[in-house]
Amino acid sequence: MRWEKDGLAVEVLFSRAGLATQILVRIDDLNLLFDAGDGALRDLLRKGLPPQRLHGVFFTHGHADHIAGLYGLLGYLRAEDHRGLLKVWYPEGSKEIETILETFRRCYRGTIPFQVIAHPLKDGETIFLGKASVLARSVKHWNSIKGRPLTPAPAMGYRVEFRGFKVAISGDTAFCPSLIELVRGTDLALIEATLNEEATNDQKTFLHLTQIKARELGQLAKQFWLIHVSM
Ligand SMILES: [Zn+2]
Repeated sequence: MRWEKDGLAVEVLFSRAGLATQILVRIDDLNLLFDAGDGALRDLLRKGLPPQRLHGVFFTHGHADHIAGLYGLLGYLRAEDHRGLLKVWYPEGSKEIETILETFRRCYRGTIPFQVIAHPLKDGETIFLGKASVLARSVKHWNSIKGRPLTPAPAMGYRVEFRGFKVAISGDTAFCPSLIELVRGTDLALIEATLNEEATNDQKTFLHLTQIKARELGQLAKQFWLIHVSM
């Protein structure tokens, strides 16, 4: 899936619930990854875009299917003697992401040629990247085992704006009011659609959107794609 308008390009490199999600957003010559699940490095290299050309990664939350590729990206950059910067934005309190970064630093202290700038995000924070901006909004996505919600997870959806064009990325989320604000009026919305109608009320309330709910939300955007569907 690929979309492009006036220097803003969006491509879903891969997205399946529980497996991996990685979305490439290019803003002129700025390359951003939204989530880096398993295979993110492979998917980037296959596109002819080595991670050295990544400006940074925005994580929606710390679950494995969204972060498992982070360590691979870091290791590759080190092995390639990358001398630049990698920015990592993530929802404040995502222990998983902070632990991966810390583990990498601890294993290779003194021999990491590039700099990682970690930036925990608060609800409503906007990151300005040249003429583009990325708004972060908290969404509702709990930790779970086998579809059983356990505890709330720090989770965010994003809204990218550039030259008047707007793109929303829902992240993993059950229905919540901030989703309407993120998606309404966008040119393209990437909306998670993990559940089918047979899902339990708990799953619908705390974990994910159903395909029907995701489509309903998509009507608020000019165009929408359903992502993060179940295998
Ligand atoms: Zn997920």
